[in-house]
Amino acid sequence: MNSRTRPTGAAIRLDKAAFCYGEMSMRFDVEIEAAAITTVMGPSGSGKSTLLNLIAGFETPQSGRVLIGGKDVTEAPPAARPVSMVFQENNLFAHLTVQQNVGLGRSPSLRLTAGDHAAITQALARTGLAGKERRLPRELSGGERQRVALARVLVRDRPVLLLDEPFASLGPALREEMVDLVAGVHAESGMTVVFVTHQAEDARRMAGNMVFIEHGAVSATGKTSAFFGEHGPLSFRHYIGREAEEAQTTRGARKPT
Ligand code: ADP
Ligand code: MG
Repeated sequence: MNSRTRPTGAAIRLDKAAFCYGEMSMRFDVEIEAAAITTVMGPSGSGKSTLLNLIAGFETPQSGRVLIGGKDVTEAPPAARPVSMVFQENNLFAHLTVQQNVGLGRSPSLRLTAGDHAAITQALARTGLAGKERRLPRELSGGERQRVALARVLVRDRPVLLLDEPFASLGPALREEMVDLVAGVHAESGMTVVFVTHQAEDARRMAGNMVFIEHGAVSATGKTSAFFGEHGPLSFRHYIGREAEEAQTTRGARKPT
């Protein structure tokens, strides 16, 4: 796989991909549209992270297949897949500067060409980090650290971007800003974006498609606008209702799962 291939947004397909942790057995059968943003929601422990890990190759299905861009990658290691992933935290190396952390997206040994440096500068500007190149992760806010992770995604230039509750620890205003940044990056790059969130507002803001997961399987798919409309899937509406109640009682950022 050529890591410099321009992202054209590959479609993703999980073809009866089964995975089990102890007693929790999961089976995903779903198609994710190329070059679109798909938001994944579902209760804690329903299998959202497992779905992303199967796509990224951090887990291998016990049966079934994973296809990206029509190609069977079921047995391919993560590095051979056309995928970047951003987690809720710990995306960065603590001892490396912002510039170096982004540079890793181009070269694991940080042997960077003039072209690489130009791409890094551009990605840092795009994510609002110009002037912070020499800082270490601990000298950044939580939102800035996630911007660095996104800048690295930009220089990696892969067709698929997976985000596992990347903004769950940020406050609402900052989350809005970050969701808009992802949406903007998506519009410019045409990547296929799969975004896991607990927050209904994030999903609404992203628009695009929705995948709803319950008990280790996809229980509903469709346009985000239809999900939030009065004819949205009943199970989803119940879930959103429960989450809203919980948010009223806790009022804080919740832990990702
Ligand atoms: P979500 O991201 O939706 O909260 P996960 O995909 O992380 O859910 O987990 C799905 C199920 O698998 C849960 O029941 C969880 O307890 C279980 N699980 C996840 N990771 C592990 C693990 N490393 N070992 C054992 N069970 C796990
Ligand atoms: Mg999770």
